[in-house]
Amino acid sequence: ARFHDLNLPDRVLKSIQEMGFEYCSEIQAETLPITLQGYDLIGQAQTGTGKTAAFLIAMISDFLDYPLEEERPSHFARGLIIAPTRELALQIADEAEKLTTNCDLNVVSLVGGMSYDKQQRALESESADIVVATPGRLLDFARNKKVMLNKVECLVLDEADRMLSMGFIPDVKSIIRMTPHKERRQTMLFSATFPRDIQNLARQWTYLPKEVSV
Ligand code: AMP
Repeated sequence: ARFHDLNLPDRVLKSIQEMGFEYCSEIQAETLPITLQGYDLIGQAQTGTGKTAAFLIAMISDFLDYPLEEERPSHFARGLIIAPTRELALQIADEAEKLTTNCDLNVVSLVGGMSYDKQQRALESESADIVVATPGRLLDFARNKKVMLNKVECLVLDEADRMLSMGFIPDVKSIIRMTPHKERRQTMLFSATFPRDIQNLARQWTYLPKEVSV
């Protein structure tokens, strides 16, 4: 499938073209028709499949199609992406920046091992449309109410199996409890593997999910 045929907002399509993408990768072709309709997703995909653009394009398109009706303080996250490592989070943020070059959605990174003050200033000065985070730093900000998660419309859990093996599930659970109930948010969970623990968490965290495997 071509991105052109997916009925994406013009501003997203323009960025996709500027990034040099024309054809959807398999995970994108399989998931976008589902996620663009607002369904929850459990996706089995490895790195290198284009899963990042798959969830970002769905999130950004939704936000552009349904603009916020009321102003809210800048530190209320609208989209939240949780990744296990700083490297992955920064890669996701980089791709999100590229996909939002033609619209006025802001990307804020909340990742460990980097300046806390800088991240706090970003939350104070620009709207937290898309927050890309690692669990520890995010929980720190959320517990101190430097970032508010109770208005999150779209939640992405990337590389869930690595979050489990790195011991982040308790933090992720605490974070998810601060977001709206699963029936009132869209949740997309990606993992390379689905051992029993991850299957159970995926079912707990999603509402009537569609499942895709590539
Ligand atoms: P990911 O699996 O998300 O880490 O993506 C792997 C690489 O593929 C990244 O460098 C993306 O920028 C690139 N990519 C993602 N989707 C497409 C596409 N539809 N066409 C060409 N390259 C893509």
